[in-house]
Amino acid sequence: MNKKDQEFFKELLLNQIEELLSQADDTVSGMTLPKENFPDPTDRASLEADRNFMLRIRDRESKLIKKIKKALERIENGTFGICETCGEEISVKRLKARPVTTQCIDCKTKEEAQEKALGL
Ligand SMILES: [Zn+2]
Repeated sequence: MNKKDQEFFKELLLNQIEELLSQADDTVSGMTLPKENFPDPTDRASLEADRNFMLRIRDRESKLIKKIKKALERIENGTFGICETCGEEISVKRLKARPVTTQCIDCKTKEEAQEKALGL
């Protein structure tokens, strides 16, 4: 991967992180609504459900943020775009669709087939 591609993906990943973090801020402000605004127990139950839903989303977001940070580290140390299983270069097309990926399509497909065979 050349320098220009690396810069491209760095920018892409940084933008993604920024977006996720600003969404996370929205989630937090949505969660700090004072309880006394919902005296009706039905409302409170639905508020609880909303809260659980938001926490699940936040969990997924934070996992994704970790993956993006790892990808940025790989850009810094020069291993970005290299399949961690076979050591071959991952195609730029695949990286554009999924920049946090650490495997080439061949290895990923094989792994998924194995997981399926093992019933995972
Ligand atoms: Zn591979």
